[in-house]
Amino acid sequence: MIRFASLGSGSKGNALLVQSGATRILVDCGFGIRALSERLARLGAVVDQLDAVIVTHEHSDHCAGLLALQRRTRCPVYLSAGTRSVLAARHPFPGPLHIVCADTPVAIGDLSVTPYAVPHDAVEPLQYVISDGAVRLGVLTDAGSVTATISDALAHCEGLMLEFNHDRHMLASGPYPAFLKRRIGGPEGHLDNETAAGLLQQLKHDRLQHVLAAHLSEQNNTPEHVTGHLCATLDVAPEDVCVARQSQGFGWLTIGGRL
Ligand SMILES: [Zn+2]
Ligand SMILES: [Zn+2]
Repeated sequence: MIRFASLGSGSKGNALLVQSGATRILVDCGFGIRALSERLARLGAVVDQLDAVIVTHEHSDHCAGLLALQRRTRCPVYLSAGTRSVLAARHPFPGPLHIVCADTPVAIGDLSVTPYAVPHDAVEPLQYVISDGAVRLGVLTDAGSVTATISDALAHCEGLMLEFNHDRHMLASGPYPAFLKRRIGGPEGHLDNETAAGLLQQLKHDRLQHVLAAHLSEQNNTPEHVTGHLCATLDVAPEDVCVARQSQGFGWLTIGGRL
């Protein structure tokens, strides 16, 4: 059984707490130590309980709080060699580091974490599939397009956290400068709602228990747009849809265990 909860998701900060048994790992740490502590407290957790942080890439919304957390707890950090090179050039890491490679699983306590490569404008971005040996949670944010690697990695997961970053029309007609629109909407930017829904359509299966939409743009998307896509794709009612928000994140969801 795995449970997972978003501490907050979007361009101002991301962190996902994943737990199985006594093992607790954080995927990304985009919040400072104080905000992180407050957000963990909402979920009944504290920073000293974290067994590891796994980092997707070097953008600040994913690692702004990483060094402060490691200074405080010496919590091991797992990341790609490329992500490490960028972050370590800015500040040396105060605690243990583990380099991970795409398609090579690593064991962290009761969990197995398998990184996979994604197209995003970072040096060596990875996303992760996390398993307790019985069920799998697939995580995907910060990808500009859907590749065969992504759809293969996320196949057969009981839980998914998927980026629904922007509505294409809102982005096109919105206030962002042209270069930023091109970056966000480009093949190494962020997933738009229709592309994410298309991926979900391809991935859904009878044992899929929870889908959490994440990394919504506050400027170029609305929770209502995303809810509409999820309802149509999963054939569920709006009240059964899970959308992580920047400020509140989303509470615990459980996959596996006794149903
Ligand atoms: Zn990014
Ligand atoms: Zn991001």
